[in-house]
Amino acid sequence: MSTVLPAGERMDTLRTRAEALFPGGVNSPVRAFRGTGRPPVLLARGEGPWVWDVDGRRYLDLISSWGATILGHAHPAITEAVRTAAGDGLALGATHPREILLGEAIRDALPSVERLRFTSSGTEAVMSAVRLARAATGRDLVVKFAGAYHGHSDGLLAEAGSGVATLGIPGSAGVPESVAGQTIVLPFNDASALTMAFARYAGRIAAVVTEPVVANAGIIAPEPGFLAHLRQVTRADGTLLIFDEVITGFRLGPGGAQASFGIRPDLTTLGKVIGGGMPIGAYGGSRELMNLIAPAGSVYQAGTLSGHPLTMAAGLAALDELRPERYLALERRVDRLVEGLSAAIERHGREASVARVGPLLTLFFRATPPTDADEAFAADREAWGRFFRAMLDAGVLLPPSPFEAWFPGFAHDDAEIELLIETADRALAA
Ligand code: PMP
Repeated sequence: MSTVLPAGERMDTLRTRAEALFPGGVNSPVRAFRGTGRPPVLLARGEGPWVWDVDGRRYLDLISSWGATILGHAHPAITEAVRTAAGDGLALGATHPREILLGEAIRDALPSVERLRFTSSGTEAVMSAVRLARAATGRDLVVKFAGAYHGHSDGLLAEAGSGVATLGIPGSAGVPESVAGQTIVLPFNDASALTMAFARYAGRIAAVVTEPVVANAGIIAPEPGFLAHLRQVTRADGTLLIFDEVITGFRLGPGGAQASFGIRPDLTTLGKVIGGGMPIGAYGGSRELMNLIAPAGSVYQAGTLSGHPLTMAAGLAALDELRPERYLALERRVDRLVEGLSAAIERHGREASVARVGPLLTLFFRATPPTDADEAFAADREAWGRFFRAMLDAGVLLPPSPFEAWFPGFAHDDAEIELLIETADRALAA
């Protein structure tokens, strides 16, 4: 094991030390495994589709760093690129050529992104895109959808998905009412609620921010026509449409959800895959809009380590591997996975269903895939917990929440997909 571990310490003692140190024992809430009925797994290393815990036990990994790794862990090209970049100094505090290369690669993949800015997280990217939208429109209100997660900036925590939903908290303590009051939360896939909100708040909504495919309440697919309706009502009212593609960007394909669904947003936020596993975020849009950002314009946004050379190196190495035929191969393997899971659900007569968009999927313990957050959150958590524990005991590490996407990637080959199906079949039988 290449990782340096405290000598002689095993999972339970390390867990105790972590709990004495970090709130809930973790540095990000979903890692605490709350609601799984199991203590959190501490991971020491990963390779391809596999991860090893600190006791040396191996798991087939479907967390994939919450979507940041699509090539599998410790991909040789990324590892080598980071090693080489590290030799040039970790952070130099001025523009590095690699920022330009990764920025150009992203711009070339996304026609709606003419200019962009790198940040260090998805949270910063969405927060900054919202600030830009408010400045560009001179309006304050922002619309988001229930169950969607856009990072932990104050205004976007209302009825959020991901860890916020897993912990069952409606928003967050510490967010002033005056801030929360600027956010309007609507049900996803509800065209009439959207129309009504735009009638009620006409001329006052700066932006609608959406995950084009909700991936933080488990997967919720946009119903046919919903995104087109969203594009139409926002354009008609002079409201900017922000696609939060932190998960879908370079995962549904090189062009993200905007290419898959043929919708051109005004602003796009990215993260995860574009950093190859290193901390990253980015936001971009038209030249005109992005030129409002300082120092070109008067919307301030900055970051000491933004465009970090190591992140840029990892992201470039990752994007270099993201060829269209590999996405097609992944789609075919996920076709097989969905077919296998659905057959197992049927065979064992479980009230469960698979929600899937492209390579993203969630097994929900409800009869049909949800169309909005209320349906997703009403799924059977007890049944999910039993399933999660059976999978974990059999060596499959699913995201430790019923409301998260599974992230199979290019390293999950046919053999791993079959193993996943067989393990799920046994877990559903039990
Ligand atoms: N937007 C979406 C759609 C996300 O899924 C996430 C994180 N899971 C974020 C924003 C926030 O990104 P980060 O955790 O890098 O701040």
